Amino acid sequence: MTELTGMTRDEITAWLAEKGAPAFRGKQVFEWIHRGADFDEMTNLPAKLRDELKACSVAQPVSIRLHRTSELDGTVKFLYELKDGNCVEGVLMRYHYGISLCISTQVGCRMGCRFCASTLEGKVRDLTAGEMLGEILAANRFLEHEGKKVSHVVLMGSGEPLDNYEQVIRFLRLLREEDGIRISLRNVSLSTCGIVPKMYDLAEEKLPVTLSVSLHAPNDEIRRKLMPVANSWGIRDILGACENYIRKTGRRVIFEYALTEGINAGEAEARALANLLRGMQCHVNLIPLNEVRERRLKGVREETVRRFMDILEERHISVTRRREMGDDIGGACGQLRRQTVQEISRRESVCESSI
Ligand code: SAH
Repeated sequence: MTELTGMTRDEITAWLAEKGAPAFRGKQVFEWIHRGADFDEMTNLPAKLRDELKACSVAQPVSIRLHRTSELDGTVKFLYELKDGNCVEGVLMRYHYGISLCISTQVGCRMGCRFCASTLEGKVRDLTAGEMLGEILAANRFLEHEGKKVSHVVLMGSGEPLDNYEQVIRFLRLLREEDGIRISLRNVSLSTCGIVPKMYDLAEEKLPVTLSVSLHAPNDEIRRKLMPVANSWGIRDILGACENYIRKTGRRVIFEYALTEGINAGEAEARALANLLRGMQCHVNLIPLNEVRERRLKGVREETVRRFMDILEERHISVTRRREMGDDIGGACGQLRRQTVQEISRRESVCESSI
């Protein structure tokens, strides 16, 4: 089955031409796909062509299996289902500037970060570019009755985007195709645990996405306790790749830092972090750790976050704390898929392949 969401307008046109369809059909199909339509809704296509397409291709590879909406702030957590029965999750957040969707790039993850729920069973498989786009199309369908659309995208769901490099780049290019979904790459953030060679590659793609780096430590010793990837590349290598990214794209880099009691959240670590980042065109995003049942790591108290922030601010490091959204619906950072998939499987034993 050909997955049409992963194809550019020209690729769809060429593919349809092989089936004898005129060039303008390519544009029509591409527009329908990016509007989230399935074949039956493509009313300006001849019924025969629709049937033919239905038999050999997929229009929308992602559907919403479950969703939970926060009564506090309207945040929505999705559990998406893929055509092979695997599930990934997404989070839709409402801001004054628009609607931001956190998307997944892999089913599971093989990076092994000690605090993260997505990686507990390793990587199941990479998502295709079409599936990543499909996550946004499914969210747009969900929003349709509100007359709203996703305007911002963060690649911060399950998976390591730079470990699925080619499909992620293809996905990013699809976002700005003419007649397509048209999300500005300036509204897109890509978060990585720090795969240094791929950070250099990304800088060469000339795509104006914001690079976020999950730093989580001011030195390699602490970082190695939290992230196995720190055994492959040191913080110096990462900062070098960030400087290069800033130089090549003109965009500041964001550092994610999850505060973890007794590990990286003390005053000494705050001072060390400020020293490390001094003079760099960057911003620090402090994340109060979301405690994961299966992990023994502990989050921090409000005063610890406050103190950490003060120390960075006193040293002129730009810093914010990540807003905790959708607190009442649970399941931040990979926990939704685990919880929900486990709940569902207890109830009706579906989605087993992704547990
Ligand atoms: N693989 C990418 C993107 C996915 S994770 C990366 O590592 O950046 C998105 C962000 O959530 C990362 O900063 C990650 O470190 C963080 N994260 C994962 N689990 C978390 C948890 N339990 N509490 C707080 N942040 C977490």
